[in-house]
Amino acid sequence: MTGAASYLLERAWVDGAVHTDVRVVVEDGLIASVTPDGSGPADPRAEGTTTAIPGLTLPGFRNTHSHAFHRALRGRAQRGPGTFWTWREQMYDVAARLDPDGYHRLAVAVYAEMLAAGYTAVTEFHYLHHQPDGTPYDDPNAMGHALIAAAAEAGIELTLVDACYLAGGIDRPLTPAQRRFSDGDAEAWAARMGRIEGDRVGGAIHSVRAVPREQLGTVVAACTGRPLHAHVSEQPAENRACRAAHGLTPVELLARTGALGPRTTAVHATHLTSADVALLAESDTEVSLCPTTERDLGDGIGPARRLADAGVRLSIGSDSHAVIDAFEEIRAVETDERLASLVRGRFHAADLLGLGGGRIAAGAPADLVTIDLRSPRTAGAGADEHAAVFAATAADVVRVMARGRVLLGDDSGDPGVAHAHRADLGRRLAEVLEDLSTHGEAP
Ligand SMILES: [Zn+2]
Repeated sequence: MTGAASYLLERAWVDGAVHTDVRVVVEDGLIASVTPDGSGPADPRAEGTTTAIPGLTLPGFRNTHSHAFHRALRGRAQRGPGTFWTWREQMYDVAARLDPDGYHRLAVAVYAEMLAAGYTAVTEFHYLHHQPDGTPYDDPNAMGHALIAAAAEAGIELTLVDACYLAGGIDRPLTPAQRRFSDGDAEAWAARMGRIEGDRVGGAIHSVRAVPREQLGTVVAACTGRPLHAHVSEQPAENRACRAAHGLTPVELLARTGALGPRTTAVHATHLTSADVALLAESDTEVSLCPTTERDLGDGIGPARRLADAGVRLSIGSDSHAVIDAFEEIRAVETDERLASLVRGRFHAADLLGLGGGRIAAGAPADLVTIDLRSPRTAGAGADEHAAVFAATAADVVRVMARGRVLLGDDSGDPGVAHAHRADLGRRLAEVLEDLSTHGEAP
């Protein structure tokens, strides 16, 4: 049989525990077989050599919330005091500099950074739709298509959720900087979203601030059978405005309009009532926690333990990319809980790894992330999930396989991969970000 490759993983996370000498056969981008503890017959599909992979191998992490262009703000948006709302003005300035070509170049580099940080799949929450004055590009989905092409080039699995963004706040018009986000109304948004060419396309309600109540139903209907994401209760001010206008919390408003459900992801869900938690649980809505962004923006600490206790499915997102590090993101879910509760061990390390959403199992995508257990950070921290969760960082990722392609690591023989080595990746990011800050003038 051709096309199959065999690997012997020194240690690997399989079925909720770390095993040694795990044989994995990969074929057509999928895991064909997994044999823990070196036992069992060799898989006949993998003839010839077996590649030994030292270190601890984990399933690739799924990043369930990203705005690729926010990466350009890292470091630059840290001067002086401010709030979420003043940060947002800086973010709009970056947005104004981007066109489809520039966004494509930036996104390739950002998605490559994600891969090198342990993420093998990303959901891009996309709202930068039109030209700065709001006029559509010749291809009205030029920006979304630029992101889809960028992900393919980088080698990450992308789900594009195209966000409906119509208002500058509840009963407030768009500001000039927000014009390029809007299609005018939800019907026009749905028509454009429906023409995106891609394998994994969904929709989003940017927030209850940005989509008027009477248009929420149109967005929900357009997302039937598709993923639907929404920013929810990131800031107390959003809750206050929503209650004042509708007498409902954002979660309650979304529930009334049929927006919650098993294909829906509520992003942040930081400031929730008990009733909100119950609504998310009853509807089987997922919550994407983005703790490195939430702390960076001063959003607050989300109720991760309360949500988990209620049975809500949790995942992680790197959102604003102040940090792109899957390990830091899952660790922050626990360490933020400690700060808020004054109690350690609110989540087991195994449960935190589970937030990554992947599995090393037959039939699963061949997304394998290997960390070095002898780095300055991980040395002596053990060789199990505790080392991964409480010691490792993105810098300890030494090998990344996504859909069967080795995208980072010494055994990457793939000439099409620009980010096979971390030094190349840093250089590319620097070039793209320098170009954006010097050549793209905000109008
Ligand atoms: Zn976001």
